[in-house]
Amino acid sequence: MTRVSPHPKHFLSDKVEHFTESVIRDMTRQAMQHGAVNLAQGFPDFPAPAEIKRAAEEAIAADVNQYAITWGAKNLRAAVARQMKQWQGIDVDPEKEVVVCCGSTEAIVATLLAVCNQGDEVIIFEPFYENYGPDSIISGAKPRFVSLRPPPASQGVRGGEWTFDELELRQAFQPQTKAIVVNTPNNPTGKVFSRKELELIRDLCVEYNVLAITDEIYEHILYDGARHISIAALDGMRDRTITINGLSKSYAVTGWRVGWAVAPPTITNAIRKVHDFLTVGAPAPLQEAGAAALSLPPSYYDELAKRYRNCRDRLIPSLEKAGFRCYRPQGAYYVMTDISAFGFANDVEFAAHLVKEIGIACVPGSSFYKHPKDGSQQVRFAFCKKPETLDEAARRLEKLRPRIVRG
Ligand code: GLN
Repeated sequence: MTRVSPHPKHFLSDKVEHFTESVIRDMTRQAMQHGAVNLAQGFPDFPAPAEIKRAAEEAIAADVNQYAITWGAKNLRAAVARQMKQWQGIDVDPEKEVVVCCGSTEAIVATLLAVCNQGDEVIIFEPFYENYGPDSIISGAKPRFVSLRPPPASQGVRGGEWTFDELELRQAFQPQTKAIVVNTPNNPTGKVFSRKELELIRDLCVEYNVLAITDEIYEHILYDGARHISIAALDGMRDRTITINGLSKSYAVTGWRVGWAVAPPTITNAIRKVHDFLTVGAPAPLQEAGAAALSLPPSYYDELAKRYRNCRDRLIPSLEKAGFRCYRPQGAYYVMTDISAFGFANDVEFAAHLVKEIGIACVPGSSFYKHPKDGSQQVRFAFCKKPETLDEAARRLEKLRPRIVRG
């Protein structure tokens, strides 16, 4: 029998051709390789709250070590429903409307797999958290991007906000649109969508019969009096919204991988089926600890926001002093910056220089855009770090100089 050696791509899915590996996680690897301060991937370098670590230990000691109910431990689902009511006034039936997943990451892709058909489109604001594009492609849908525009330089660093154009958004809604992904507070821009903006999105969702998939993982990380509004709380949206959230960012446990989706019963059923066959369930003892986390008093969330505000206000001045133009975030724990003052050809070259020569890892802006050119003069820094870590970054930034362009 003659052996035919297959084309190297013969065994691969066409889908994986359409996206790359995560740039954010690659930057963490580079940070480790070069001994750099890691301001790339958004995870805290300080301890998680003692109470919730204790709850996890107790759950393991009490032998909560076998599968939880596939769609989530009862205690955690009850706590999620209670919090939705308490923070946003949304009534949720924990028996029929909650799916606990392996992180909000799984919750989003399981949701898209549960609602999308081949040929459907998903609207995504750009710059976007890098998972949304691949998630849409994996689920057979086509992403369609709508720009968030940075505030113009003339508004100064304190004044402006990232905005979108109403007409551009309206034009993105098509007969084949299945869903829009809304991420507020937003990664990477730090934008907190206003009620007026969310109402416009609501009106378009209703007019075009479209779902909202809303990633609210940074809901408690807000600054300068910004208020988080869940789109599911708006009139007309409860039945067409899937709200995604998780433990990672609110409780500094990104490695636990516990998140959830809250949706009307029919959609929840579909997500539960996908989730069951993807992962069976999220870690059982950590779900119990999650129920304890969601029972922390309101003062916990005040402290959390205050801590991150201090981190933001510690990092931004040293970035500005070094020559970055910073887009001041209203929420989440990232700052997008403009790097045009440094004279680098693009963000990837700049990030490589920063990690190797200066010893700081950031995320190249292009990884948040469909067309790399659009992010070629931007990089993102995560500031969810100890004061000492941010101070060390500030010290290292003093060595950063613009590249001399010889012409
Ligand atoms: N959400 C975090 C970030 O944007 C972590 C991303 C990840 O690696 N899952 O940096």
